[in-house]
Amino acid sequence: MNTSNKVEIVNAKNDTMKAAVWHGHKDVRIQEVPVPVPGPDQILIRVDYAGICGTDRHEYVGPNFIPTFKPHRLTGRTAPLIIGHEFSGTVAAFGKNVKQYALGEPVTANGSLACGTCEMCRSGRYNICRKLGFVGVGDDGCFAEYLTVDADKVFRIPEGVTQRQAAVAEPLACGLHATHLAGDLFGKRAVVVGAGIIGIGALYGAKLAGAKDILVVGRSEHKRSLVESIGGVYLNAAQKDFMDFLEVWSSGDLADVVYECAGTQETMGLCIPACKPGGIIMVMGVFEKPPTVDLNTLQEAERRIFTSQAHVNEIGETLEYMAAGKIHADELITKEILLEDLVEEGFEELIRHSSQHVKVLIRINE
Ligand SMILES: [Zn+2]
Ligand SMILES: [Zn+2]
Repeated sequence: MNTSNKVEIVNAKNDTMKAAVWHGHKDVRIQEVPVPVPGPDQILIRVDYAGICGTDRHEYVGPNFIPTFKPHRLTGRTAPLIIGHEFSGTVAAFGKNVKQYALGEPVTANGSLACGTCEMCRSGRYNICRKLGFVGVGDDGCFAEYLTVDADKVFRIPEGVTQRQAAVAEPLACGLHATHLAGDLFGKRAVVVGAGIIGIGALYGAKLAGAKDILVVGRSEHKRSLVESIGGVYLNAAQKDFMDFLEVWSSGDLADVVYECAGTQETMGLCIPACKPGGIIMVMGVFEKPPTVDLNTLQEAERRIFTSQAHVNEIGETLEYMAAGKIHADELITKEILLEDLVEEGFEELIRHSSQHVKVLIRINE
């Protein structure tokens, strides 16, 4: 592939690009910044689509994880930095040690940043490295025309999967990862509390693992048809009592696995009694306030709390499922915006109408 004009980008140090830079609480500015230069083991990716994550929205009204005073434990960065970690794009340039990719190849990547040397990193569990960071939070991210990532975190987008679809792989991979940690779900009964993209990822994870019955719990009617189209049963907990419904739905047996995908006191409170004796509560949500947990209900029936953090190689698996027609990403995209409209049409819209959206995408170079 000859795209030598793209190689010049990294040589011309004075090249600039448009990026969404986080400066502080509700202060995200679209500005011109230098195009990053890939290190020897890195790839420069030209971003086509980027997804707005719940994390990004939290940072917009935060800071939450973006370091403002104390430099990031791995990267040493503090704000201002470019936000965003969900994306798809093409290879625009790469460092001298990168042999396995060609210019112009469609790719996405795992935006996690890990030390690479600790016990967890060495065993492949870099998602729980004690120095863990993410692009867009601990270093420059993808709400920009270009970003750099380590080549070993890059995934090729398979034939038949569009850039638009691939941009949704990252959040769905969280559901697949949590499902791997939960053990064998074949023929089992799962409950998913929370119907945002993480809940939808858990629904797909449980379904693809062979769970027999899956109930997704939300608080509005917006997600009903989506959940049903994927093969789940939907309960609007604002209309019906959750435990009454669950007793009937599970014939009194409760759930083998309950995924917590919202991160609130209320949702965590639903998860424990929904879990059958000896079952698993899989916590995926990020809590703004530490919840009170009913340890008595947990202990009286040997219910177990498991936790799941991001993903490791599940983005690749998610892309394969998309290519095989088993995950339908287009249905999850509820809005598409331009980078310059990020604040008003993205963050503010998600604050106003969060229950209406699954994934808002930013169209960047595409
Ligand atoms: Zn995300
Ligand atoms: Zn590590």
